[in-house]
Amino acid sequence: MAVKQTAGRDALGEFASKFAELNDDVLFGQVWSREDKLSLRDRSIVTVVALMAQGLTDSSFQYHLQSAKNNGVTKAEIAEILTHAAFYAGWPKAWAAFRMAKEVWAEDDVADDAKAAHESRMVFPIGAPNDAFAKYFIGQSYLAPVSTAQVGIYNVTFEPGCRNNWHIHHAQSGGGQILICVAGRGFYQEAGKPAQALHPGDVVNIPVGVKHWHGAAPDSWFSHLAVEVPGTETANEWLEAVNDAEYAKATTEEV
Ligand code: MN
Repeated sequence: MAVKQTAGRDALGEFASKFAELNDDVLFGQVWSREDKLSLRDRSIVTVVALMAQGLTDSSFQYHLQSAKNNGVTKAEIAEILTHAAFYAGWPKAWAAFRMAKEVWAEDDVADDAKAAHESRMVFPIGAPNDAFAKYFIGQSYLAPVSTAQVGIYNVTFEPGCRNNWHIHHAQSGGGQILICVAGRGFYQEAGKPAQALHPGDVVNIPVGVKHWHGAAPDSWFSHLAVEVPGTETANEWLEAVNDAEYAKATTEEV
């Protein structure tokens, strides 16, 4: 797909129409658009390093840093890219580039800080992105195994607004789940009942066969230990997502 660019015509269309055309239609419309040859993310990295190497830390550099971020370059990656390039392009040029990159990735600081602050308020780690179960969640969740022997215990962390789908814990005998809230603010809801607000120290006993969901409040990170109660023929049945309307209703009618 062609990258749409109008900066050339916007800035120089009257003054230098050919330059504007080459900028918008050839450089961006053709070269940048060859995504089957090199991704936009990789092209952004090449461009940022090339501009930095010339000491061109002007508004076009800022534009390309923002594009790099939009194309998926993370804060940690841009820091690594500029550090690496500093040895080849020059230390003062890296300094100048870092000043601008810090502004572009500033919003990420806020999100990272909120996550770090949440983690600092509990003794268990947040752990890794919960990729294996992501399809049963709305929003980003994280999983840290606390115990994988005898009784399975996992610290589950939900970003603000994140919740798991409606689900049922099944077992022939025993089974079910216990939630022990460790940090932040969240919710637990059984089908047909009002949602229950959860705070650190709260414990929820979830019997087998009960349809329910659990997750974070809209404006707070939340972590609970999930204890797998031992039983025979235990299985989780994942059902439909808790849609935005259901979630909004549940989290505003807290009891
Ligand atoms: Mn559950």
